[in-house]
Amino acid sequence: MNILISGAGIAGPTLAYWLRLNGFTPTLVESAPVLRTGGYIIDFWGTGFDVAHRMGLIPELMRRGYVVQEVRLVDAKGRRAGGFSAEIFSRATGGRYVSLPRGDLASAVYATIEGKVETIFGDHVTALKPAKKSIRATFAKAPPRDFDLVVGADGLHSTVRTLTFGEQAKFERYLGYKAAAFEVKGYRPRDELVYVTYGEPGIQAARFAMRDDRTLILFVYTHQGPGAPPHDVAAQKQEIHKRFADARWECPQMLAAMDATDALYVDRVSQIRMRDWTKDRVALLGDAASCPSLLAGQGSALAMVQAYMLARELARAKGDHRKAFARYQKALYAFIAKKQVAAERFAGAFAPRTKFGLAVRNLVTRAMGIPFVANLALGSTLQDSFTLPPEAS
Ligand SMILES: Cc1cc2nc3c(=O)[nH]c(=O)nc-3n(C[C@H](O)[C@H](O)[C@H](O)COP(=O)(O)OP(=O)(O)OC[C@H]3O[C@@H](n4cnc5c(N)ncnc54)[C@H](O)[C@@H]3O)c2cc1C
Repeated sequence: MNILISGAGIAGPTLAYWLRLNGFTPTLVESAPVLRTGGYIIDFWGTGFDVAHRMGLIPELMRRGYVVQEVRLVDAKGRRAGGFSAEIFSRATGGRYVSLPRGDLASAVYATIEGKVETIFGDHVTALKPAKKSIRATFAKAPPRDFDLVVGADGLHSTVRTLTFGEQAKFERYLGYKAAAFEVKGYRPRDELVYVTYGEPGIQAARFAMRDDRTLILFVYTHQGPGAPPHDVAAQKQEIHKRFADARWECPQMLAAMDATDALYVDRVSQIRMRDWTKDRVALLGDAASCPSLLAGQGSALAMVQAYMLARELARAKGDHRKAFARYQKALYAFIAKKQVAAERFAGAFAPRTKFGLAVRNLVTRAMGIPFVANLALGSTLQDSFTLPPEAS
């Protein structure tokens, strides 16, 4: 079976890996001219970690990644105001936890299929026309082609989803925040293996020191409505300047660093909630189907679980896509919906909107120095209620 996958982020190449292993012929189409790297640091754990393990990726991810020692909340003068030892993460997951740039995870996954799976960079699908026995994909540049199935792994703003299910607004749940991330060389100060973060009502700034004298900076801020479009970087920078204009701590220095970079990632913090992840000969996965938002701290891992399960069910159903699509959604829908609800609940604690909210959050995180409180607050959220089934034989 020939399967077109739109999007070579995390979900797409993972799906291509498992499809190929099971005798399918995947083709990837990616709108960016080359594999997108860089970006923000992500936490990687849970069932997605198990998928990466089965792909033989863990040694490489551990080599590229970081084992964070502390999450430190600071005041305007940089003094510790709250936070906790990150040991809770390792303890709750039995050491199966690593933090790494999203781009490093993407390139490690892509390396498993590079040269083995046809990948078209710098192009995208413009129309999808399902027929009885195939589906015709029209591209912006390449000539039209027929496939047996099409999979949308093209992220939060998925084109495949729009073409198949309708406009994004029907499925997007905006959580009221925007996030911006970028990398800086030579930033000072550095705190090795410490995630340092500062908040004022409705805004949050954070930094994490990486190897080779690089620092990752993340801004999160409350925002009414969609604001500047994600691809207009100049307008986004202006928006961030406005929101952080009077912010203290290292914010002025961080804003100056942001101005000097072209590689700024910025987007709305949104979830995608759909009743169905599949229709006719089209399936969605990853952020395209069920983005849990960055507040879930697990989007990449969940995208990999969906990819594994979709390939597995297609193999088990011997290509009967109706059967496979139904099993794929049934296996994961409730598990992922639960993650989305938890992430939405967490939104207020991540970047509190009031001074009181900030004080409460700092107090709670200080109490997390006590293992009992930490387990109570985080322990259960660090356990996945889904166990990865064996590979299709
Ligand atoms: C600031 C931030 C922090 C995060 N922290 C974490 C974390 O701690 N842990 C975690 O697990 N996750 C985290 N996430 C979420 C995580 O990055 C996503 O959930 C994950 O990348 C989803 O993978 P995906 O493959 O579905 O989509 P993406 O990684 O977004 O990949 C989609 C790909 O499709 C391409 N594309 C887009 N449109 C088209 C098109 N029309 N045609 C072809 N290609 C297209 C894009 O260029 C991209 O390469 C975070 C996200 C953000 C923004």
